[in-house]
Amino acid sequence: MLKINNLHASVDDKAILKGINLVVNPGEVHAIMGPNGSGKSTLASVIAGKEEYEVTEGEILLFDENIDELAAEERAHKGVFLSFQYPVEIPGVSVTNFIKTAINETRKAQGLEDMPAKDMLKLIREKSEMLEIDRKFLSRSLNEGFSGGEKKRNEIFQMAMLEPKLAILDETDSGLDIDALRIVANGVNKLKSKDNAVIIITHYQRLLDYIVPDFVHVLHDGKIVKSGGKELAHELEEKGYDWIKQEVVT
Ligand code: ADP
Ligand code: MG
Ligand code: MG
Repeated sequence: MLKINNLHASVDDKAILKGINLVVNPGEVHAIMGPNGSGKSTLASVIAGKEEYEVTEGEILLFDENIDELAAEERAHKGVFLSFQYPVEIPGVSVTNFIKTAINETRKAQGLEDMPAKDMLKLIREKSEMLEIDRKFLSRSLNEGFSGGEKKRNEIFQMAMLEPKLAILDETDSGLDIDALRIVANGVNKLKSKDNAVIIITHYQRLLDYIVPDFVHVLHDGKIVKSGGKELAHELEEKGYDWIKQEVVT
């Protein structure tokens, strides 16, 4: 599904990613961990195609297609979903209307008609029930006055509605209380199938108690310096990141 070869990327001519290699197959959950400033969010942004990041070397293949030249929107239409670490407020646009527009934009890009209103309602009902989201929430203005937990719930709702092929969740667990964490994890676990993949970016092991990754990668100074199974996350929780830095230096 996703193949990243020797990816180098910079912002304002400052090199941040320094040779990332990563393969993500359908059905897999990958966790990307690492200290603050190691480049985790940059990696997510570069995969999603945010403009301020420049790929200076290497390539990103999505279903064997090089997506380097594609705009963020086009990548989204191909099934890439990136949750936002700092979601924006859009006064006057409800949670429901925002997602309806997003779905119909995607369909348009795929040459499809708008989703019939009846099907849309059914989908909204189904997904909101699954995520324990109430009706009042759906009619509120996007992110306006949302608590941290509500923002996360909305992101997960968007993800569930869009049914992406590749979902990238960046620091989805920061600032979440245990109930919200459970809902996020629930949403991700329900989305998981043999046809889609999830990349979870997290500083902490906590979320990985609920969403068990198949692979864990540690990012340090723009490179993946260690990969392993879910046990690596526990090791990091116990020992912190310093021992990895030591290993890299020696
Ligand atoms: P992480 O998510 O692992 O904490 P980031 O990818 O956010 O790390 O940041 C990695 C480095 O790149 C940091 O030094 C950060 O300051 C820098 N960086 C990231 N995005 C930008 C940007 N848009 N403009 C300037 N510097 C950036
Ligand atoms: Mg950071
Ligand atoms: Mg980050």
